[in-house]
Amino acid sequence: MTNLVIAEHDNAQLKGATLNTVAAAAKIGGDVHVLVAGSGAQAVAEQAAQIAGVSKVLLADAPQLADELAENVAEQVLAVAKDYSHILFPATASGKNVAPRVAARLDVAQISDIIAVESPDTFQRPIYAGNAIATVQSADPVKVITVRTTGFDAAAAQGGQAAVESVAAVADSGLSSFVGREVAKSDRPELTAAKIVVSGGRGMGSAENFKILDPLADKLGAALGASRAAVDAGYAPNDWQVGQTGKIVAPQLYVAIGISGAIQHLAGMKDSKVIVAINKDAEAPIFGVADYGLVADLFQAVPELVSAL
Ligand code: FAD
Repeated sequence: MTNLVIAEHDNAQLKGATLNTVAAAAKIGGDVHVLVAGSGAQAVAEQAAQIAGVSKVLLADAPQLADELAENVAEQVLAVAKDYSHILFPATASGKNVAPRVAARLDVAQISDIIAVESPDTFQRPIYAGNAIATVQSADPVKVITVRTTGFDAAAAQGGQAAVESVAAVADSGLSSFVGREVAKSDRPELTAAKIVVSGGRGMGSAENFKILDPLADKLGAALGASRAAVDAGYAPNDWQVGQTGKIVAPQLYVAIGISGAIQHLAGMKDSKVIVAINKDAEAPIFGVADYGLVADLFQAVPELVSAL
């Protein structure tokens, strides 16, 4: 039994989601290999080789693998797939772009968004926006899996000494081409990797008002998040959305401000270690999951909190 983890990276840095995916692979048992498909990505392969528990890194390095084009990356995975019993992707935007193509071409059912490993063929995954946990067993010869990264503590980034082996890069599929990328620049931590997240909801009232969360996030070194209602109303950018149709986060501390606690929002944050809620409605459902609740007007409470900090 050998597991292949598909690394997520930007050709320079390995992304943290890879570490959680390695941890899931280690729980399955057997060897854990990592595939780095990229361009000029030798440094990423070397980082992957240091992950505790990884015994081999495959590096496919070519210009056509530079930009995570799903068609090319899927072909690269398929080129080495025959050696593996389990192929694991982080359940991120790019992992979820490639994994179904691999599963379809291998003619197996994808096992999506696992949060626990019961045995090499049996996994747990949330369904109904996290309201129920399904235990799924697969009889397929190869398991193609996406891993909900918040379900597994990250493997140690250091401590491994895996060999890096170059593998032949597949040809450009010609099915898609890279046009451009607009990357939001922020000095704040990335939302899904942040240890502290401060999120605002519809209760913020406007995009202008939303800015009162900036000094709080600055003091805490936090990422900013938002409910879907806040995003839909234009108070916050789309990529801040936390929840069933947004990002799944599980930071050490999640501060929900002016957020009611709809089930679709809870689906994205209820596994946070400590949850703090500020809401003027004592009956708001967010208080049902909060470790600390403050029934208060946020426009008074947030500045007070900032000055206390
Ligand atoms: P509201 O529910 O309107 O709550 C605002 C809260 O602010 C209230 O509790 C109010 O008491 C409080 N408030 C107002 N003023 C103040 C004040 N001055 N001080 C303190 N508190 C104040 N939602 C998500 O967040 N993420 C998702 O990914 C998501 N996916 C969805 C997917 C589907 C298929 C569907 C149907 C819905 C989804 N939703 C999602 C929407 C979700 O159902 C809720 O509508 C949304 O989460 C509500 O956002 P909110 O809590 O900011 O707004």
